[in-house]
Order: sequence, then structure tokens, then C-alpha cells
Amino acid sequence: MRKSLKWLPVFMLIWMSMQVAQAQQRIQTPEQFLGYKLGEQFTFHSRVLDYVNYLASQAPKRIKLQEYGKTYEGRPLVLAYVASEENLPRLEEIRGNNLKLAGVQQGQVQGNQPAIVWLSYNIHGNESVSTEAVMQVLYELANPANTQTQNWLKNTVVILDPCVNPDGRERYVQWYKQAAAQGGNAMPYAWEHNEPWPGGRPNHYYFDLNRDWAWQTQIESKQRLAVYNNWLPQVHADFHEMGVEAPYYFSPAAKPFHESITPWQRQFQNTIGDYNRSYFDKNNWLYFTRESFDLFYPSYGDTWPTFNGAIGMTYEQGGSGRAGLAIKTQSGDTLTLTDRIAHHVAASMATMQATSEKADQIKQEFRKYYENNLNKPGGNYKAFVVKANGNGAGNVKALTDYLDRQQIQYGYAGKNTSGRGFNYSTGKEESVKVGEKDLVISMYQPKSTLVKVLFEPNAALEDSLTYDITSWAMPYAFGVQAYAMKKKLEPQNKQQAAATIATPTIEKPYAYLVRWNSLQDLKFLTELMKQGVKVRMAEKAFETDKQQYAAGTLIITRTGNEKLGDKFDSIVRDLAKKQTIDLAATATGFVSSGADFGSGSVRYLKMPKVALMTGEGVSPYAFGEVWHYFEQQINYPVTAINTTYFKNVPLHEFDVLILPSGAYSKVLDEQTLEQVKSWVKSGGKLIAMESAAAFLVGKKDFDLKKKEADKAEEEKAKDKKEENPYQYLKTYGDREREALAEEVQGSVFRVNLDKSHPLAFGYGDTYFALIRSSNTFEYLKEGWNVGVLKKNNYTTGFVGSAIKEKLQDALILGAQPMGDGQVIYMADNPLFRGFWHSGKLMFGNAVFVVGQ
Ligand SMILES: [Zn+2]
Repeated sequence: MRKSLKWLPVFMLIWMSMQVAQAQQRIQTPEQFLGYKLGEQFTFHSRVLDYVNYLASQAPKRIKLQEYGKTYEGRPLVLAYVASEENLPRLEEIRGNNLKLAGVQQGQVQGNQPAIVWLSYNIHGNESVSTEAVMQVLYELANPANTQTQNWLKNTVVILDPCVNPDGRERYVQWYKQAAAQGGNAMPYAWEHNEPWPGGRPNHYYFDLNRDWAWQTQIESKQRLAVYNNWLPQVHADFHEMGVEAPYYFSPAAKPFHESITPWQRQFQNTIGDYNRSYFDKNNWLYFTRESFDLFYPSYGDTWPTFNGAIGMTYEQGGSGRAGLAIKTQSGDTLTLTDRIAHHVAASMATMQATSEKADQIKQEFRKYYENNLNKPGGNYKAFVVKANGNGAGNVKALTDYLDRQQIQYGYAGKNTSGRGFNYSTGKEESVKVGEKDLVISMYQPKSTLVKVLFEPNAALEDSLTYDITSWAMPYAFGVQAYAMKKKLEPQNKQQAAATIATPTIEKPYAYLVRWNSLQDLKFLTELMKQGVKVRMAEKAFETDKQQYAAGTLIITRTGNEKLGDKFDSIVRDLAKKQTIDLAATATGFVSSGADFGSGSVRYLKMPKVALMTGEGVSPYAFGEVWHYFEQQINYPVTAINTTYFKNVPLHEFDVLILPSGAYSKVLDEQTLEQVKSWVKSGGKLIAMESAAAFLVGKKDFDLKKKEADKAEEEKAKDKKEENPYQYLKTYGDREREALAEEVQGSVFRVNLDKSHPLAFGYGDTYFALIRSSNTFEYLKEGWNVGVLKKNNYTTGFVGSAIKEKLQDALILGAQPMGDGQVIYMADNPLFRGFWHSGKLMFGNAVFVVGQ
């Protein structure tokens, strides 16, 4: 055929060369760029970004990229903004307009305002189809020949996050490529379908980022939501995967709905569901709606955007970390990555189409939502007051930092006033005196729905079948004295007063003193330790210079720190400033009441070497929470030791060993447990959390017993049941509901503390814990029952009827002296998801204070 070319008429040659030039200009498909069809292989994160960059470079008038941060492992986090050629240059104006619609920015909307839809992919790292699908979605948006997408872009701005959790995704993809058979093996028993510990779902610190939207403890969430809050999209969709046997899920969602979701939001979720249905029906794809995925817990990728005025969507494809390139299902079909990609692409298209076709209505309702928030806030309470006194200043600061991240407005009362309010500590309505320096969060503000959801004492639960914790009220989480007020109360002083901290007037004091109240005080201690400053702690309350100091106060004497010379004062003063804590000083070691600073009850705090168990058997989440606590929250070295070689580690190199929740029968066999015990007896400190504590029940020398439901009560209940001949006629359809009677899903309980024990230093008589398990214990006979539940300590949240008994007269925090060492039992995990701020000092006490 080649030689016939010269016979072609000239115009044909010109026509052909034009075709070649056009093809070169044409944007490459994912297949052309990557060299394989999407679905034939998993794509490394760096290659995904290469393609995203390529598309942006080919369509610079319609796509703009923003690197909004980096992951803990240093991978870039990127957003792609896609708009029409008219709209892309005015993105900043559009963003400002949208904030004006929401009332968080003042002024009038300028020019034509498009609707804004935000699509988030792959927040769960091993739900890996999302990031493959997004390449196709972005191609369709970039391709000028796709008239459908170009039409949508006329009145819609699309923001895509191609991979919310690159560290988790890469953990999965790297492993899969190593484990997979050539071309993939669809047998479910193949290695490639059985992901090893810890799995790719969570991020670097093994946090589930789809439980972190509201708490924002992880840098991925913090950086992403700072941008999100500057946009406030009207539609947000979060792309997930579920078990391989389920086909596809989209809205309508399942119950329970949080009562703060508006009728419009419910209705439009269903509308987007209708658009999805039409795509899925046309292709004869299976799907389900109204099951499993509820809208209650506020920290998901659908609920949190919903409480920020968006239509929040969850999409779930069957597959997850199990499906690989292809897997046989029980129904005899083969689920392929290619199928999974097609479904998520379709759902992305349906979401953009729905947004574009209903853009006017969406914008109108968005504005109405925020107007109602500002002028007619929902709920029984109109303001929340946090007392300035009686809370550790650090706890209030932690709360205001959190409110800043959420862009929730607050201020200070500015004058003394009073009114009726709900007291979070007592759980009762009472009259409240508001002081001028108290913090006030009014419900009359653009984000009042979010305020209500985060602060209301009791979240109304439509139905108890829910996926997650049922209680999270912020005053309990931050450990602050607070009131929910029934009357409108506006802060007089919206400006946040600069934190004023006390600084000592004596130049070269005998000792510096710091009260022990919050995580900041602990950070101050660990920084001092790292800089070689010797610190003591008062075991009992004392009075000096007419000031009262509670047990736990840090005493930093000049004596013992001579080797630091003149640097001693500047180190202590600078660190106090850095942590914004009050620093006092005294010229004498003599106290007017309590023990003098040279007394044996003023303990020197040795800098502990801390070991932390990790690996197969340990819950990755529980381990990650402790790991994150040390590295990111208090910045203190911790040595993670894997269960595979734990037996061979010389424990005398460490002072503290932490066992996060997990299954320990393999790693702590009889002989290894003996080694651990003899290390404890010679002065080691063992901290056993949740199921790690439960593992020690009944083991020799450990004084821990499981709390069983009251025997007599149980018998009585049984007798009663026997009277009823129809008791066994249970309804099959109710089986899920009956199982719930055995559960506590994360509810707040008041824990009574022995505040004289070092484990409770810095706390009063009570501590509000988020209890998530009925794994409680009997009171210790040999040791100290530092934190206990008595009768009626339930505060708020869902608790199954059958286990209420186990959550009475039970041990939550215990310390058992053993030889020269200590065993600390925690039935509750104060570091759960890193957001229960008020538990963090308690964990610090366990590591740094108890047994010193
Ligand atoms: Zn997921």
C-alpha cells in the first residue's frame, strides 16, 4: 500500500496531514498515556498524578491544579478544578460569591454564579477503584469533544480530589502488585485477595480518614478541610467500596438520619439517586439503596458536608481490598476492576449531571440553608457557654483552635449575665451565671447546624441501628465546664482575646511551678525532659506564696539543674511561652501547707523509655492512636516493637511497655508473659488497653476479673422468660435489632475518679469517658480503682438494654502495683480516634507519672 501513496491527489495528502496534526493535538486517553487499559493494572499514585498533570497541561483553560498539602509520608495532595473557559479565570470570584451566598463573607454576588460540586476519591486506601476511575472522569471533563461534560461545565464548577489518602492507597497497590498472579487470579483463596496486616484502608498512622471529617486530627483532613471550608461546595460525593458480594450503593440512604438534615437535603439526595438509577438501569447493573449506610455520625464524608450545607453523597462499589483485578463471587460471576471503574465513572457523571441540570435550585436552597442557620437556628438551645474559670486554660485553647478549624464563630460574653441552661457536668437544667470572660458560641451564625450537631447534649437518634458512636458532645470531649443556654446570647467581644499567660516576676527563683491541667502542660513536661531539665511533681496539694496548688503540680527547682547554668531559666520560660501555659515562681522551698519541695512526696520524674507493641494481633487503629499521640501530639520518642520478634527484645532497655487493644494469646505465650511479669516486678510499667487488659484476666498475679452481668438479676430475668411460652418465637426479620441489645456503640459515661492517685492528677472527681465496649472489669481487690462506674453514671448516647448492668459498678481505670513495678488497666481507650481531648492527659499520667 505504501507505494500507491505517490498517486494520491495532492489535496488528499493535505487532508491526511491535517488528520495527523489533529490526532497529535487530541488529548490522550488514560490508555494512551499509561500504556494499558484502565482496569488491566493498578496505577501507582505518582503515575496518576502524572496523568492529572498531563491533562491540566493539555487543557490549561479548563483545568487548574492545586497542591494543597502533603501526607505524613510526603506524597502530594492535589485538587483539580475544572470549569468552562469563561469561568476558570474567575475561580476566585466564584469562590468568594459562594461564601457570600453562605453569609460567611459579606457583599453581593458578582456575575453569573455556577454551582459547585466536589468529588472525593479513595479516602479508604484499599478501596482502590476510585483513583483508577477518576482518571477516566477527568479525561471526560478535559476532552473538548465530549459535548455532554462541556455542557455541564457551563454552569458548574467541578472540584476533584483524585486521592484523599495516597499513603493508604499506595500501601495497598504496592502489596497487591507483589502478591498478584500474572494477570490476576480470580480464585478468592489466592494471596492477592487476602490483604495482610495492617491493610491499606487507613492512613500512615492507621487512622480511618472517613471517621475524621469532623475531628480533623490527621494532616490529610486538616489540609483538605481548610480548602473545603474556603469553598463550601453545594454537592459533595465520597467514593468508597464495600464487600465483593454487594453490587453498588447510592442514595436514598438508610436510617437513622440525623434530625438536622433538612427535608431539601433528603429530597435532593434522592434526586441524585434518580440520576444514578437511570445510568445503572440503562446498563442493567445491580444496585441497592436505603440499606446499611446511615447518616448519623457527623464525621463521615457525607454527614460532615451535609452539616455544612452540602448535599452529601456516599457511593459504595462492591470490591475493596479483596477484589484485586478480578474475583469470583458466590453467585458465580467474576467481578473485575474494569466493571468497578465503569460504575464509579457512571456515578461521577450522574452527580455532575444532576448538579448542572438543577443548578439554580441548588444555589437557591444553599442560600436558604445558610439564611435559616443565621436567623432561625434549630434545636432547643440558642447558645453554648464555656466557663473561663475552672477549666484548664489549655483545654479551652484546644477547643477554640478546634472551632477555628471548623470556621465556627465564638467570642467572649463581655458582661455578666444569667439565664437557664443545661449543665453538662450534672446533666440538669439550672440557673447559670455567665461571666464576662466566659466563651460564648451563639447559634445565630452561618454554621449553626454544625454547632448544634457538635454541642447538643443529646443527639436525637431516629433508630439505633447505626454504624458508629452515638455521642460526641464537645464539652465532654474537651473536658470543659459548659452550659447549653435556652435564650439567645451573643458574644459582646467577637475578637478573640490574645491568650494572656502569667509570667514570673522573680528573676532567679528557687523553683518554677506549673499547674497540671491539660495536654499543653504535658507537652511542656516532655519538652523539658528532652532538654535535660530535671522536673519534680507534687504528690499532694500544697500552698505557697498564698497560692493553692493541687496534686500533680510540676516543681522545677534550680537545685538539680545546676549543670544547665544560666540557660536553666531561659529554657523553662521559653517553653512555657511556647505552650502558652501559666508559669509561676517562688523564692522558697518552704510551703505554708503540704510538703516542702525537698520532701519524699515531691517526686523526681524520670524520663521514661517507652516501648509500644505493634504488628499482627494488635489492632492497627489502636496502635496507630498511641503512635500518633507520641509522635504528633506530644512529640516524644516511642519505640514500636513488632509482635514477630517481641520475645527477643531485652525489656530492661525500657521503662514502659504499652499494649494497645488486640489479640495477645500468640505473642504473649506463657513463657513470654513470665518475662514481661519479671520485668514489671523489677520496676517496669505495663499499660494494657481494652482487649489487651481483658487478655490478662485470670492470668497468674494479675488481679483483673471480667465484669459479668449480675447473676441474681440474670436468673430473675430467665425465670420471667420461662413464664412466657412464646419467648422463643423470635422474628427472623428482627435479628439485627436484637443483636444490638448486647452493644454499647460509643456513649458518654461519667467516671468517678480517685483524684489522689497519680493516674487522675489534673482531673477533679469525675471524668467523662467515651465508652465503646462492654468489656468492663470488677473492682480490683489488690490494686487501686482509680476510675470506676458506679450506678447511674450513664450520661448520653445509645446503650443496649442487655448490657446496662455491665456498665454499673465496674472498673474503667485501674493500677495494680506488682513488685517494684506497676500494671495499669484501661477498659476505656482515652486516645480513641485522637479526638477525645479530655482523655489525653490521663494517658500521659499513665506513661509519665504513675509509679515515679
Ligand atoms: Zn470506604
